[in-house]
Amino acid sequence: MLNKEEYTKWAYSIPGKLALNYIYYLGDFNTKFFTQLRDKKKILGIRCPKCNRVYMPPRSVCGRCLNKLDEWIELGNKGALLSYTVVNYSEPYQPTAPPIIYGIIKLDGADTGFTHLLGEVDAEKLRIGMRVQAVFKDKREANIQAIKYFKPI
Ligand SMILES: [Zn+2]
Repeated sequence: MLNKEEYTKWAYSIPGKLALNYIYYLGDFNTKFFTQLRDKKKILGIRCPKCNRVYMPPRSVCGRCLNKLDEWIELGNKGALLSYTVVNYSEPYQPTAPPIIYGIIKLDGADTGFTHLLGEVDAEKLRIGMRVQAVFKDKREANIQAIKYFKPI
């Protein structure tokens, strides 16, 4: 990682702070996904009616056949670990103190994986393909952090 002096050797920079208050409109599509996650702890995927590929996180258009997607399906909260990485340093933007373990999880019934935190796990015992389960926060907002992390099962 470069420090401030190293950055200014190769690029002109202007130090500053940026505070930005904003409201991001999720739209009907993402509102459905995130409110089900927040209110019912349901993780929804979406299936392509043409090629049957199931996306989680859901998306509005199939990446394979460009078909419009609107067939919502409820996925379970369990899946398999496709990959992972362990972060052993601290930065202000990170969600917890290190070691922080990020995994790519493919939920049962889905064809795609997504990135989330892993918890209640010893980094030395991680292995590709291990079974994991979502742990939800008690107090949830309508965002992906309604899932606290995934733990081994
Ligand atoms: Zn498709």
